[in-house]
Amino acid sequence: MLGSSVGKNGINKSADVKTIQQIINLRDDLRKVLPKLVVDGRYGAKTQACIDQAQSGFMRQPDGRIDPYGATIKKIWPIAYGKPTGLAVRGTDSYGAGHHGASRGSRVHDGTDYNSTPGQQVKAPLSGKITKMSKPYSSGIDAMVLSGVEIVASDGTTCWVWYMQPTVNIVGTVVKAGNSIIGTAKTLKNRYKNGITDHIHVRIHTRHGVKVNPTTVIK
Ligand SMILES: [Zn+2]
Repeated sequence: MLGSSVGKNGINKSADVKTIQQIINLRDDLRKVLPKLVVDGRYGAKTQACIDQAQSGFMRQPDGRIDPYGATIKKIWPIAYGKPTGLAVRGTDSYGAGHHGASRGSRVHDGTDYNSTPGQQVKAPLSGKITKMSKPYSSGIDAMVLSGVEIVASDGTTCWVWYMQPTVNIVGTVVKAGNSIIGTAKTLKNRYKNGITDHIHVRIHTRHGVKVNPTTVIK
């Protein structure tokens, strides 16, 4: 969720400083002792004071810097998972089953499908940052409607969430698993007819591209 380092002697690119400023503002424990930061992407004394304060909670000798995939980012925005719709994993319908590894003819299902009610709010399945929009289809009547997002966590774990309309201006936002609303569920029935069970498709990879079965982490 960080491209490069933030803090003392850090590179302090605007997008990364914004990420850290958002995390600090979302951390109630830091907000108790320090004022809320303006999320402007500018690195300065106030942002540094918050980094120092955060590190003092778990480091004996804080270095004032947050590196990508380092101890501090993993500590201040820990890996966490949550249910996107609050509903069960899709069972078997006319188009297949929703579990990871289910047959899709010549290939296997690479994610887990969570049942959805079209129009319902979808919550982040992974804590991290929304890095980009992710579209499952490039053509068809509903290609613009059936969209999604990519979320990258502090350790580089990456999650794709499909078949929803992402919240406006969601890219660049720091999200908390099972808590932050990232979009609105959309129906798949225009594309697949009534035999399909409406759902949200969740796919997870490690930082190094190893597939993760979402049901082993989303509890
Ligand atoms: Zn799926």
